[in-house]
Amino acid sequence: MARISRSKLAEQTWNALKQAFPDSACSLDFDLPERLAIRGILSAQCTDKRVNLTSKELFEKYPDANSLADASDEEIAAIIKPCGLTASKTASVKDFANRLAGEWGGKIPNDIDELMKVRGIGRKIANLIVGEIYGTPAVVVDTHCKRVMKRIGITDSEDPAKVEKDIMKVFDEDKWIAIGHLSVDLGRAYCKAQSPDCGSCPLSGFCGRKI
Ligand code: SF4
Repeated sequence: MARISRSKLAEQTWNALKQAFPDSACSLDFDLPERLAIRGILSAQCTDKRVNLTSKELFEKYPDANSLADASDEEIAAIIKPCGLTASKTASVKDFANRLAGEWGGKIPNDIDELMKVRGIGRKIANLIVGEIYGTPAVVVDTHCKRVMKRIGITDSEDPAKVEKDIMKVFDEDKWIAIGHLSVDLGRAYCKAQSPDCGSCPLSGFCGRKI
């Protein structure tokens, strides 16, 4: 079979994923913007299901940035422990809450560089925050996205920054937010880390299968 261009591959990938997962969306609960941002912080190396459960308890006790900023590290750590990486996530939640209650004047910045000043917030979470809260075009490259994009042949890299750039080159800007969610759906349903189900996968007709 002749090799197809990455642009063509992206077009086919988009069409197949949209058809397979028409209701694709972020799987973190989104009630208030600051809560979504904090769930993003808690999601590092943790399932979205666990984050949604744990954050429910956190927000019952500390419903907004002011109350979180006033809470002690120990109080926050005791609640978010099930999400793992407790010390670094506690520091990150506190730093985020302090900035939101203080220098940001209650409004989350629609600015990736400003968000990345928060302890523990990297490009992935900053992209998630601006994308989900403001609809700012941004690609969230998580472990699923990184894996499936390399297997399909959209990128040759496993470096999230390079994967993000490769995706941005071949998908139109208005698809950047959705392609992150669709990659997660694909990774969970078919393109699993250990045993990809290529036989049933909706991308099997054109995927590069770089496994
Ligand atoms: S065909 Fe296989 S390798 Fe390609 S995306 Fe589907 S499950 Fe993954």
